[in-house]
Amino acid sequence: MVNQWLDIMSLVDQFNREIKYLRLSVTDRCDLRCFYCMPNGFDGYEEPTDGLSFDEIERVIASFTRLGVSSVRLTGGEPLVRKDLPLLAKRLAALPGLDDLSLSTNATRLAKHARALHDSGISRINVSLDTVDPVKFKKITQGKLDKVIEGLLEAKAIGLNPIKINMVIMKGVNDDDVEDMVQFCLENEFTLRFIETMPMGDTGRNVRDHYIDLHEIETRLKEKYELIPAVMAGAGPARYVQVAGTNLKIGFITPISQHFCDTCNRVRMSATGTLYMCLGDEHKYELRPLLRNGISDDDLDQIIRDAINLKPLKHEFNEKPEKVMRFMSMTGG
Ligand code: SAM
Ligand code: SF4
Repeated sequence: MVNQWLDIMSLVDQFNREIKYLRLSVTDRCDLRCFYCMPNGFDGYEEPTDGLSFDEIERVIASFTRLGVSSVRLTGGEPLVRKDLPLLAKRLAALPGLDDLSLSTNATRLAKHARALHDSGISRINVSLDTVDPVKFKKITQGKLDKVIEGLLEAKAIGLNPIKINMVIMKGVNDDDVEDMVQFCLENEFTLRFIETMPMGDTGRNVRDHYIDLHEIETRLKEKYELIPAVMAGAGPARYVQVAGTNLKIGFITPISQHFCDTCNRVRMSATGTLYMCLGDEHKYELRPLLRNGISDDDLDQIIRDAINLKPLKHEFNEKPEKVMRFMSMTGG
């Protein structure tokens, strides 16, 4: 009986992985154009009326929490482009069973919103930052570095903690910035995470020539620093080390060189209510038509259970790099 109850309360896929984590895209729009993520000049965004409203999002997240999901990360596109995001965060943070609400952002608008985000129940943030060289930052993103730094410092001053910096490493683009990034994170008490490029959409595939196996970066860092194994709460797929004698933790996210699909506990929902079971797969389930046709809570729970069974065993980024047509910001990376 107890086990039966647990089954009803949890989302387990056909490979016995329990889904505890949802990445929720609140918009596919972005104010930057990181060249590995969004096509240059792209403006083929979804129609605003096709995006889920706050009420619709809250319904879906309530369903996920009934099914045992306890962590939600707001992402995009750039989530802070979505009007009134702190209001949505506050509504989600109040849902029973949601223990952990976090945000991934490019930080261009963070200085303005950090206080409201903190007050709404977001405690931890991840910030994308691939270099602290303003000229290179402009080349990679078409944006201005000083806005991002301003956002990061404001978030830190307000007490958002931990602040994790996500750096996509690309050979010949920013691999020589690794040591500067380590220094920047040491000075500011940020956590640093390196990410391997993924062949998502043409933009992701175009940077395949810049791909680096992060084990190379780790070997290089070991020549300069003593790295000891470390753990980090809410680590997800990252493997962490710590620079001995400091508080700096460094994470390695290696979807290509050492995939972590067997322990994957997450799914994603796009801003228009499409559930994606895997970053590296086109399996999806459209929730928006059901929400707009008056589906009951019980049926919504059942649909989500059924959708989870579409989750594949693993991605095929290495075997079939041409497979995923959508680029990262369309999914909710
Ligand atoms: N705009 C927010 C940001 O940049 O943090 C949230 C959305 S962004 C799509 C989420 C993450 O996806 C970022 O850390 C970004 O660097 C990463 N990303 C985008 N395209 C990628 C690719 N082709 N390979 C690896 N990471 C990618
Ligand atoms: Fe925008 Fe984030 Fe994609 Fe950069 S990585 S273009 S900031 S969505």
